[in-house]
Amino acid sequence: MNAEIIAVGSELLTPFRTDTNSLYLTDQLNQLGVEVVFKSVVGDDLKHLVAAAQHALFRSGIIILTGGLGPTEDDLTREAVAEALGIPLHREAEVLAAIEHRFASRGWKMSPNNAKQADILEGATVLPNANGTAPGQWLSGKVEGREHIVILLPGPPHELKALFESECRERLRAKLPPAYIATRVLKVAMLGESHVDARVAPIYKQYCDVQTTILAGAGEIELHFKSRRATMDAAQACVDEVADAVEDELGDAVYSRDGQSLEQIVGYWLQMRGATVAVAESCTGGLLAERITSISGSSRYFVGGAVVYSNALKSELAGVPADMIARHGAVSREVAAALAEGIRYRCEATLGLGITGVAGPTGGTATKPVGLVYHGLASDSGTEVIERNFPGDRKRIRRFASTLALDMVRKKLM
Ligand code: AMP
Ligand code: MG
Repeated sequence: MNAEIIAVGSELLTPFRTDTNSLYLTDQLNQLGVEVVFKSVVGDDLKHLVAAAQHALFRSGIIILTGGLGPTEDDLTREAVAEALGIPLHREAEVLAAIEHRFASRGWKMSPNNAKQADILEGATVLPNANGTAPGQWLSGKVEGREHIVILLPGPPHELKALFESECRERLRAKLPPAYIATRVLKVAMLGESHVDARVAPIYKQYCDVQTTILAGAGEIELHFKSRRATMDAAQACVDEVADAVEDELGDAVYSRDGQSLEQIVGYWLQMRGATVAVAESCTGGLLAERITSISGSSRYFVGGAVVYSNALKSELAGVPADMIARHGAVSREVAAALAEGIRYRCEATLGLGITGVAGPTGGTATKPVGLVYHGLASDSGTEVIERNFPGDRKRIRRFASTLALDMVRKKLM
């Protein structure tokens, strides 16, 4: 059975709110071996909601609607599903009593509009909501000869999650044939998306029963492989086969094969080698240190460092000779190397990292354009500097630079 999700609420059609419930539900459904094939966001409008529910009934076996179960005029999910299915709603005394009790237990008086939250679809199972007033509803049965499951869940994410876990997961599992979805994620650093795809598409295209998705960020690419099988072992074997073949092709550009972040991998290698690192950052303004220290336990390998934005501080805290800056400019190969060496020396670290560049959008020149960044890595075997011209806005350039610096450490140690 395939599933579809309808997120209900006019606020979800504004720039100010995002439908996150469907992401959670998709993850949960995937874990049950169910694929989500369609999702939509619909405003609080009865005729649009009825149409959306009718279309969903036509194409999907499992339909989950989230939101629109509240007490106000614009909460219309119950009415819309009743109309789409052609079944009546009735006010259930027991549910109404529970809602009244919920108000009374807090010393509040229930306003009359809350009563409509006790309107239940004919034949539906009420899913008690421990975290809110509107219960969920579960309907299963044949619609035009085909088996359907229709689930109504409240919109507030914490209510939805608790209800799905307590009332829906096992009910769904009992209705579904055993199917398991295995996933593998490979993460790749500092290769372009089109370059990666050109190299790996010939491999993953041979596996038509494995779904491959490529997600690109600044300097990091994730390759997601997904396979559905009758047993978990079979599904896992399937994704492992394609992931291993892709990994062979990309070699050590792959930094993570089971979901770890670059920060975690760098931390792992630093600990493995008993090494420490210190940073002197200019254009990244502390982002590199922030990323390294986002990992719990990073005090074991991160000594510290300095944000050396001004030329004076580059000399004072990282020992960069003032005449070197005067001669080559603050954004230069020489200064990146000196930052790395100076901070390594001052912090008595195994490795020193220095970053200097033009993050933009102002400050670029013909010879030193926006996006030009030098990354230095100093160790007892000498100093390496990488020059790059990163594309994108300030945020992206800074992200790229910090990723490249982390990847230099990884490559040095692995
Ligand atoms: P409702 O059940 O429609 O009264 O929704 C109550 C609140 O839940 C809304 O104001 C939103 O803040 C939140 N909400 C509703 N639907 C979603 C959704 N699909 N994703 C995330 N939050 C939601
Ligand atoms: Mg709403």
